[in-house]
Amino acid sequence: MSKVKYQGNVKHTYLLRRRITCNTCGAGYWGRAIRNHNTKKSTSKTVWYYYEHNPNHKCTNPSKRIPQHKIEDAVKTELLGWMVDPAAKWDEYIGEKKQASADVEKQIKKKINERKKLALEFERAKELVVKDVLTEAEFKEQRERIVAEDDKLKLEEKELREILEPEYHVLLGSGEAMEHELSEAFKSGDLGVNFYSADDWFEYIDLFDASVRVMHKKVEIKSGIGKKSLPVKDFQS
Ligand SMILES: [Zn+2]
Repeated sequence: MSKVKYQGNVKHTYLLRRRITCNTCGAGYWGRAIRNHNTKKSTSKTVWYYYEHNPNHKCTNPSKRIPQHKIEDAVKTELLGWMVDPAAKWDEYIGEKKQASADVEKQIKKKINERKKLALEFERAKELVVKDVLTEAEFKEQRERIVAEDDKLKLEEKELREILEPEYHVLLGSGEAMEHELSEAFKSGDLGVNFYSADDWFEYIDLFDASVRVMHKKVEIKSGIGKKSLPVKDFQS
C-alpha cells in the first residue's frame, strides 16, 4: 500500500504509484502534494495532489505534472467498465479496434496502389528504351529511383501489417478468455467494488495490472485486457 505522509500524521494515498510512466524517456511519475504558499497568513490548508515526472530526467514531454484525481478517475472509469459489464466493454473495445484496423488496412491498400503505379512506370520506361526515347543511362537512373521508392513503400507496408496482426491475436486470444473470466466472477459475486475503498481499488488495479503511459498528445491507460487513449489536454490542470 502506498501511503505518503504529509503535514503531521495525515496520510495520503496514491493509487497509481509506480504505475505511471513517461513514454518519451521512461521515467516514472511520483505522487506529490503541493501546498498553497502564496498566502502570507499561511492559514490556508489548500493542497493539490499530483503525479509528477521524475525531475532528474531531461525530457521533452510537456506533461510533467498530472492532477491526481483526474488520472485516477480515468483509470477507475476504465476498470469499472470491465468489471460491471465486461461484455459491453468488450464490444466497445472490439469496435474501436475494428475501426483502428480498418484505418490501417486503408493505409496498406494505399501503399499497394502506389507500388502498382511504380511497376507501371517501370514498364513504361522499358518501352521507352526500346523505342530509343530513353538512353540506357537515363533508364538506369529511373530504375534506381523506382527501386528505391518501391523499397521504401515495401518497408512501410510491412510495418503497417505488423501493427495489424498482433492486435488481432490479442483480440482473439487472451482478451476473450479474460472477458469470460470476468463475467463469471461478476455473476458469482466474487467481483464487487466499494467505490470509496482505496484498498479495493488497489486490489483491482493490481488484478488488471493497470498502467498509464503519458505521451505528448495522449494518455494511454492499459488495463491488462485493453488500451484506452485519452487526449492529454483532459489531464492538464
Ligand atoms: Zn519523460
